[in-house]
Amino acid sequence: MEKTLIIFKPDCLRKRLMGTVLGRFEREGFTIAGCKMAQLGPDLLKQHYAHLADEPFFPGISSFMESGPVVVMILEGDNVIKKIRKLVGPTDSEKAAAGTIRGDYGDNAMRNVVHASDSPESARAEIRRFFNEDDFQI
Ligand code: ADP
Repeated sequence: MEKTLIIFKPDCLRKRLMGTVLGRFEREGFTIAGCKMAQLGPDLLKQHYAHLADEPFFPGISSFMESGPVVVMILEGDNVIKKIRKLVGPTDSEKAAAGTIRGDYGDNAMRNVVHASDSPESARAEIRRFFNEDDFQI
């Protein structure tokens, strides 16, 4: 079964939207296969957002992601990667359609509520980055 990595970002927890957002994922039939709360640090964020490291807004992303705890989750299901990206909506919350998670709850291009893996390769790498095998294998 396909797996994806979700991060409920600091804005999601601050706004007490974790249950609402997770409810949308569960309503689609996806299964929680791993879950932990974490305080992310600069080294891990540099790896996770390596593709943005040279952007002028990278320090802003890093300090936003360090600004409070996150919940990191593995969700499992048929075609879960693509389906979750569709539910989440595009990066910029101001351009995301109503009915998407970012469109309904995000503030802007940075404070956009959740991270979701964008391909099978990144899902595999991200799950390995945030979880140990025995965190999610029963
Ligand atoms: P996504 O999260 O939709 O896969 P990216 O991988 O391009 O998008 O960006 C990672 C994260 O970096 C975004 O979710 C957002 O928090 C932040 N980000 C992306 N683009 C911008 C931008 N132009 N300005 C500020 N923050 C941004």
